[in-house]
Amino acid sequence: MVSERMKGLGTARSVIRELFEYGNQRAAVVGRENVYDFSLGNPSVPAPAAVNEEAVRLLREQPDLIHCYTSAQGALDARQRLADSLNRRFGAHYTADQFYITVGAAASLCCVFNGLTCPGDEFIVFAPYFPEYKVFIEGAGARMVLIPPEIEGFQIDFAAFEQALTPHTKGVVVNTPNNPSGVVYSRETLERLAALLRRKEEEYGHPIYLISDEPYREIVYAGFQAEWIPDLYRDTIVCYSFSKSLSLPGERIGYVLVPGDIADSGDVYAAVAGAGRSLGYVNAPSLFQQVTSLCCDMTADLSVYERNAKLLVTSLREMGYHVVEPGGAFYLFPRSLEPDDLAFSERAKQFDLLLVPGAGFGAPGHVRIAYCVQTEMIERSLPKFKALADSYRK
Ligand code: PLP
Repeated sequence: MVSERMKGLGTARSVIRELFEYGNQRAAVVGRENVYDFSLGNPSVPAPAAVNEEAVRLLREQPDLIHCYTSAQGALDARQRLADSLNRRFGAHYTADQFYITVGAAASLCCVFNGLTCPGDEFIVFAPYFPEYKVFIEGAGARMVLIPPEIEGFQIDFAAFEQALTPHTKGVVVNTPNNPSGVVYSRETLERLAALLRRKEEEYGHPIYLISDEPYREIVYAGFQAEWIPDLYRDTIVCYSFSKSLSLPGERIGYVLVPGDIADSGDVYAAVAGAGRSLGYVNAPSLFQQVTSLCCDMTADLSVYERNAKLLVTSLREMGYHVVEPGGAFYLFPRSLEPDDLAFSERAKQFDLLLVPGAGFGAPGHVRIAYCVQTEMIERSLPKFKALADSYRK
């Protein structure tokens, strides 16, 4: 006997993986350059040279120390650098003991959901959303409550949101810039969200935590701004990752920030640390705790994402696709040209375009384009997008 839940998770078909595998098979037939794979959110730009230089320097200078266990919450000097950086950037007063360094944002989220969940708790998530939230929230023993998408701008459907808030609501998850829509929540949206949560905290007599999942915080385009959410809503817990900002997804480093002024902050921090312990994370990789904290004020050269976004948005709109303007991250979430996004994704495959159906992100009728690819590949793909659109006009 094994856990049916775990067996299910281990064997469930991943649409993204399947598309990726299909792309590999197709590449063997028609050549890699003729397959337009927009399925995976793997950064396409290299990490800054300083990342590799710091790694090499540390390996040379501290060969005995660098491979050791660190404190479970992360090395003190690394946490201090993270605090100093945010204090400089956002005029805040965070301290090292408010940071818990993790194995990427995935682990940050798992530590937070597991740390917060009491029997009967619910977490609210806005569609379109990163599908792993459901796995993480249910894994923590809580219930995920999904708010349908506001498809005109992918901001928040406040009527649906207000209805979903109940005394069982332990937290609300926001992800801006967003995977899969690429949309950045406006200040107005966030202020409205904060005001509503404050009102509900008062009404229910307990905190509602806003869990800000921010792997794309640094990927924001001209004309858009990613707000520092703890400034807008006190009870915010930040889940960050260096996977995209420094192009280091395989090194697995992120952190949880539990600001000292949130409700029950000491208990929340202890519970996050306890969850990390119970999940067996021990500590995040020691070498890259140092490297990322030493490089936390820089980013990879992210400019290609904005170029790609502009090229795709302009071209796809000219062809008649409906696209909400992305403000960051490296995803675009156009409407599919038929209501059934799975059928549309299948049709796109006939043109060797690999687009992920939106249903899995809680927003059927759309597809996700991960444009963290070479601009030149996008240029070559445009006639295919055109042919796909034309195929619906015949
Ligand atoms: N949250 C969102 C919205 C993501 O898109 C991702 C990864 O793509 C993660 C969390 C997980 O990030 P990490 O690689 O840091 O675990």
